[in-house]
Amino acid sequence: MSTLLLLIMPACAIVLAWWSIEHRYRRPLKQMIARIDALGGASNPERLPPGQTMHGSLADRLAQRVDHLCAANCELQEQAIKDPLTGLGNRRLLEQRLDIALPLSRRWLHAVSALVIDVDHFKEYNDLYGHQAGDECLVEIANVLRDTFRRETDIVVRLGGEEFLVVLLDADEEEAVRLAEAMRGMLQAVGIEHEASSVTDVVTVSIGVAVTRSGEPASLDDIIATADAGLYECKETGRNRVISRTVTRTDREETSAMA
Ligand code: GH3
Ligand code: MG
Ligand code: MG
Repeated sequence: MSTLLLLIMPACAIVLAWWSIEHRYRRPLKQMIARIDALGGASNPERLPPGQTMHGSLADRLAQRVDHLCAANCELQEQAIKDPLTGLGNRRLLEQRLDIALPLSRRWLHAVSALVIDVDHFKEYNDLYGHQAGDECLVEIANVLRDTFRRETDIVVRLGGEEFLVVLLDADEEEAVRLAEAMRGMLQAVGIEHEASSVTDVVTVSIGVAVTRSGEPASLDDIIATADAGLYECKETGRNRVISRTVTRTDREETSAMA
């Protein structure tokens, strides 16, 4: 009898230990993996058909799912700040960068320049060559922008439609206008045919440049409004040109600066 007890008791202890481990650790881990799989949805390449199990320990499987989720999360974050057509940044990226860059530039008494770049007679381009060719033209212009504005701190984004914006940190008017002219010239040298343009027979851009005064506060909206005013003047005076203006402080800014 006592021999039987001696055999049964260790067996009971083993079963109890297994049960405890299953309930305390393995089951929550399995539930966690199932939840992560559900979050990953159909896009999870490691998701297995029902009934099929994966090799490896639970911890390995969990680590794989976490890695996969992190990668998917990074990709989503990247997509949220990118223009899908050209691969340039979008307005959200611009706002993120300027949230840090504008106060720093002001503190360091650096001028900030912004270029609003708009394609001339782009509606006519689409009408003549088709929307697909229009898209390819925008990609080509994005490439010229990448080639021109190469400093690590240059912010180049597509604002929308056929309009791009470049922010140059610590760049005065002379440098901003020089780079804007270089970009305009480079695009013309690329020579994308545009038979419907009244300017010339290739695609051209007009560029409004806004420059802040060193150390003066300026919001993104004011910088864009100032560059837009320069751009408007470009369009009014024949297109395919660069016009610069200095950003002036608005009442709103003066009030908040004084507060
Ligand atoms: P302006 O010289 O005064 O700037 O004239 P514009 O024709 O370039 O300007 P307008 O605002 O009249 O037309 C812009 C055109 O840009 C109209 C629209 O169809 C086209 N467009 C906007 N976004 C896209 C896009 O993503 N792809 C293509 N292919 N065309 C676009
Ligand atoms: Mg436009
Ligand atoms: Mg245009």
